[in-house]
Amino acid sequence: MTEVLTADAAGIARAAALLRAGGLVAFGTETVYGLGADASNPAAVAAVFDAKGRPHFNPLICHYPDAEAAFAHVEATPDARRLAAAFWPGPLTMVLPRRPGCPVALLAGAGLETLAVRVPAHPVALALLRAVGRPVAAPSANRSGQVSPSTAEHVLAGLSGRIAAVLDCGPCPVGVESTVLDLTGPRPVLLRPGGAEAEAIEALIGKVGRPIPPAAAEAARGLRSPGLLVSHYAPGLPVRIDAASVAADEALLAFGPPLPGAAVAFNLSETGDLTEAAARLFAGLRWLDAEGTRRGLARIAAMPVPARGLGLAINDRLQRAAAPRS
Ligand code: AMP
Ligand code: MG
Repeated sequence: MTEVLTADAAGIARAAALLRAGGLVAFGTETVYGLGADASNPAAVAAVFDAKGRPHFNPLICHYPDAEAAFAHVEATPDARRLAAAFWPGPLTMVLPRRPGCPVALLAGAGLETLAVRVPAHPVALALLRAVGRPVAAPSANRSGQVSPSTAEHVLAGLSGRIAAVLDCGPCPVGVESTVLDLTGPRPVLLRPGGAEAEAIEALIGKVGRPIPPAAAEAARGLRSPGLLVSHYAPGLPVRIDAASVAADEALLAFGPPLPGAAVAFNLSETGDLTEAAARLFAGLRWLDAEGTRRGLARIAAMPVPARGLGLAINDRLQRAAAPRS
């Protein structure tokens, strides 16, 4: 079911065609194998989370063939330009503000105003990205909870039958993930150590904030409170989950046949399709938040979503949005 493609002109063309059609294609980079999807296609991005079996949405890195293509979608700060010139192509991911009109699906950035971007240093990956001509969202190509794959065999062991194809690029030379640097705050912060050395980054742009120790990050995650993690988008209006009825001063986030009586409603999926619902979740929350605020409504009421497959990740996000705020 999953095609194994050779990393030659024909294989790259086939992989690009599958990606452009909304399919999932794993491909090698210098760090680890990525599970690629057209980042501008919300359904394809939702399918990535489904294939990985992730119980929550985390923001994905968008891959580009060069810095110019990346900086068309995110704001290039002076530090970002300096780092791009020194490290790209290479294992450095930069988190930057999305530019107005950025075509990347909100789900790819877990609803945030920021986006993680990278230009990988692998000739096949670059040829593929050029052929696709669109941003490619790609987390590591493994099932949730498994180790990152550094060969096509590793990818197939976890994802065979769940993805359209794997482009066999041989073993990954670096084998560890990219360094993730957040450039959206008052000073740069290292979110994840990786292939690009912190010392080399600091030699270029000065001192960067250190990553949160894994234990502290885990503890923070366990608290399940919005705002604690960088990656939390929460709407301005309060959110009430598992709504069985809706009041006249509520904006309704519907799933399946909508509850009657809402002032305004957004349906995640009229047919109850979880992939469609995931693809529309962040756009829906934002729209209801803006529309509900404009109309002076009290809150967003969310209908229950089944707790299976992508429904787990949707519920995780809704629970975070509904948790008490400090
Ligand atoms: P992976 O997809 O497995 O390569 O991991 C991507 C890493 O980048 C994760 O640690 C994410 O939390 C992080 N990341 C991606 N986008 C953002 C963003 N917009 N803000 C903060 N962290 C991000
Ligand atoms: Mg991973």
